[in-house]
Amino acid sequence: MKAARLYGPRDLRIEEVPVPEVAGDQVLVQMHSVGICGTDLLVYRGDLQVRPGTILGHECAGVVATTGLDVRRHRHGDRVFVEASWGCGDCAYCRRGLILHCAQKAALGRTADGAFAEYVVVPERVVHSIAENVSFDDAQASSTIGSAIRALGHVRPTIADTAAVVGSGHAGLILMQLLRLSGPQWVAMVGTREKRLELAMELGADLVVDARAGNPVEKILQATGGLGVDLVGEAAATGSSLDLSMQIATCGGTVLVFGIYEHSVEGFRAPDLYGKEIRLIGSKGGFGAFGATSQLLSCGVLKIEPLISHILPLEGVVEGFRLMDEKAPDALRIVIHPGQ
Ligand SMILES: [Zn+2]
Ligand SMILES: [Zn+2]
Repeated sequence: MKAARLYGPRDLRIEEVPVPEVAGDQVLVQMHSVGICGTDLLVYRGDLQVRPGTILGHECAGVVATTGLDVRRHRHGDRVFVEASWGCGDCAYCRRGLILHCAQKAALGRTADGAFAEYVVVPERVVHSIAENVSFDDAQASSTIGSAIRALGHVRPTIADTAAVVGSGHAGLILMQLLRLSGPQWVAMVGTREKRLELAMELGADLVVDARAGNPVEKILQATGGLGVDLVGEAAATGSSLDLSMQIATCGGTVLVFGIYEHSVEGFRAPDLYGKEIRLIGSKGGFGAFGATSQLLSCGVLKIEPLISHILPLEGVVEGFRLMDEKAPDALRIVIHPGQ
């Protein structure tokens, strides 16, 4: 089969490799749609280390091709998406249900060969069925959707709340839509790219604010009667986005950190934790939320395909990473179709 292997920073090559063997509790999934996510980009740049020759990619959907002898729930032909990581099942964290903190955690496209390939092999327990009406392009976003569902479970927004999302990338646009569906009466989107802000408006944002134009904090305060919002979803993972989030949160409000920070943040507004009684909440991954992800996708209320800016064949994955790496203005979600 063809697969995209990383040999060093920005050294991604399409190669011919053997189709992986399937052991007892594993399934082989033929890849139909695989998204390039921010974490993939960190690996591609060498900010997250992987063994040279690792096949990248972890946000994926496809069809079950082969099953191991111990597989019970899935069979050949099932349409599925795949959870990107899994715990050892036996350590103290795994036994507490915190598998994402497992020291022996396997991660697709990092410690295990990933999804920018014609086939990927994974344990059955991380494979989730999707309904007939759900496209593979919708289902490739399941990692982000599951992570957003789990994150919102930590904060449980209600109709009494106002909310804002800071960061209008793929994750931010999904988080914004989920907030729109979860209860808050009013949801704003703060971003830096005009096209994405227009898209946020189309996807249901009540107000969009360009963080580069004028005073974004002032605009949010004005729109909320000077109070700020009850819940801020921080989805840009920059020091300035966290700073902005702390400023637009109301006293007693919550900042949900959904962006993935690689470094410490300088100038963090620690005094606001006391002074404004801000609740600062982190969330990692979507473990436990993927059943809900399947159901939500089948309802069709979440719009994923408008977020896809490029669809490329497997040979295009090198180009796809280059576009992401260079922050090409029109690139939002780049999706690879290995089957083409
Ligand atoms: Zn990801
Ligand atoms: Zn474990």
